[in-house]
Amino acid sequence: MNNILYVVIPCFNEEEVLLETAKRLRIKFLGLMKKNKISIKSRVLFVDDGSTDKTYELITKLHSEKTIFLGLKLSRNRGHQNALLAGLLKARDNADMIISIDADLQDDINAIDEMVDKYLEGCDIVYGVRNKRKTDSFFKRTTAQLFYKLLNRLGANTVYNHADYRLMSKRAVDALSEFKEVNLFLRGIVPMIGFRTDYVYYDRTTRFAGKSKYPLNKMIAFALEGITSLSTKPIKMISLLGFGIFGISIIMFIYSIIQFLLGNTVIGWPSVIVSVWAIGGLMLLSIGVIGEYIGKIYLETKSRPLYIVDEFLDNHPKNEH
Ligand code: UDP
Ligand code: MG
Repeated sequence: MNNILYVVIPCFNEEEVLLETAKRLRIKFLGLMKKNKISIKSRVLFVDDGSTDKTYELITKLHSEKTIFLGLKLSRNRGHQNALLAGLLKARDNADMIISIDADLQDDINAIDEMVDKYLEGCDIVYGVRNKRKTDSFFKRTTAQLFYKLLNRLGANTVYNHADYRLMSKRAVDALSEFKEVNLFLRGIVPMIGFRTDYVYYDRTTRFAGKSKYPLNKMIAFALEGITSLSTKPIKMISLLGFGIFGISIIMFIYSIIQFLLGNTVIGWPSVIVSVWAIGGLMLLSIGVIGEYIGKIYLETKSRPLYIVDEFLDNHPKNEH
């Protein structure tokens, strides 16, 4: 069984946590190697996402001291999702399975054992799912939960309470690389890949040092990115609104005729009020229709794979041809 594990860690200004993280992961790796669960060729790959502190120096130091540590430096800060993808695509050159985790180890590394077990049982994707969020602040917890609910309502399939802590087999990462999108929202795309999937549950802890690199503005940007890159439903909502308002214009039409017949109106009022509603509704409706086409173009430009092959039962071995 091929069992080279790569753990990919995006790091942005993580000098305070990096050494501790490296230490804990090394212990975990040595344990797993001893049990023969992972190959001795397994590695930890740090991706420096354009840090401005000593992060990269520390990575270089770790790399020169211990063979299990590798480093990849991006030319500038490109954000968590891009750094993660860079790491995954680099790691797949040598790895059989790749686990992504944050530098602060808020996600329990003891779940790695179970993830590897599931991979060895034949799973291609294993999601780490948080049992509870009691260590996150009330604000972060509720906003995050609202966000998941909203995303799923809008038709994007994300795994509830799963961040980017997951194991992917090499072929799952190969499949992921077929998604050519520029607006990258990995936790929405990975479920689209398919293959045999499983879940591992763990408790999320607080950051042991350093500050969150996701302040509110980045969180909102990330949420918007998630919605707009996975769903064109907001466009449909415009059409619906247009329908609604056009409907109201018909009601207003009837209402104003009644008022006119009852003699309650000033001359000109019915025509003005009906046109205001009707034109508003028609305009929204038209924007919605145009939006539908733009939505289609948007999805086309992503040139996502139409399918991903899991297995091919072939009875023509290659050497017979
Ligand atoms: N990160 C990154 N680039 C960024 C922001 C964050 O690579 O521009 C990394 C960061 O170093 C960490 C992970 O993304 O490994 C998650 O960040 P953080 O723990 O601050 O987020 P939170 O847990 O607060 O959501
Ligand atoms: Mg964190």
